[in-house]
Amino acid sequence: MIKLENIHKYYGNQHVLKGINLTVAKGEVVAILGPSGSGKSTLLRCINFLEQPSGGIVEINDKRVDAETASKADIVSLRNLTGMVFQQYHLFKNFTVLQNVMVGLTSVKKIHKVEAKKRSIEILERVGLANRLNHYPAQLSGGQQQRVGIARALALNPEVLLFDEPTSSLDPELVDEVLATIKKVANEGNTMLIVTHELNFARDISDRVIFMEDGLIVEEGTAEQLFND
Ligand code: ADP
Ligand code: ADP
Repeated sequence: MIKLENIHKYYGNQHVLKGINLTVAKGEVVAILGPSGSGKSTLLRCINFLEQPSGGIVEINDKRVDAETASKADIVSLRNLTGMVFQQYHLFKNFTVLQNVMVGLTSVKKIHKVEAKKRSIEILERVGLANRLNHYPAQLSGGQQQRVGIARALALNPEVLLFDEPTSSLDPELVDEVLATIKKVANEGNTMLIVTHELNFARDISDRVIFMEDGLIVEEGTAEQLFND
């Protein structure tokens, strides 16, 4: 469960998030839509404090963190509850696919190499990359690289998965394979927040859609409610 209470964000004196309140239930998939510059990406990054909110409270499960009093330890705990998939894949170039997924388990979660390898292979199978374990990122298509990014987020078994325009860097013909992978992950019961411009995908995958405009949530409802208006 995620609960955001009155989240504000300023960059200098630019007020980018103007009091966001949002609750996402366990297993719920929420798509965030809205024009460029409306604050969607900033909102996502405030949930795990990749950006420090200027004010407000982030709660994930029992972990409740007030932006104004957040300690380093609070922020680490929140990060450990979230997994993020970025627009640019941010893979390690000199690591293989398998190593890219394993590294979070061995270095962040301190899981033994043998176990980390086993779990990473299982997850790479789930995203359709079992036959690419020993490839390097440069040997993969953009869609395959993004599926490694998704596997890496899944490996940490987070409470919440955050997707920031996961298909925006891809050539059009590679978008569908990545959307299919995200849909599969959604159907596995994960709690997910997805910033996307893919309207049909948002309608297809989400339990709820929120629209942002100028730092505020201006509309929310089921995809059916919003798209039938
Ligand atoms: P969206 O994801 O909806 O396109 P963003 O959250 O990326 O919107 O950006 C919201 C506003 O905040 C924009 O005006 C953008 O220029 C500004 N902004 C985003 N990140 C930064 C930053 N690191 N420093 C200064 N301004 C930023
Ligand atoms: P698949 O067999 O999963 O359908 P593709 O047909 O997309 O894979 O790719 C065949 C091979 O070419 C794979 O080994 C893949 O890593 C590589 N490949 C695909 N696209 C690119 C690309 N843009 N740059 C470099 N290698 C690529």
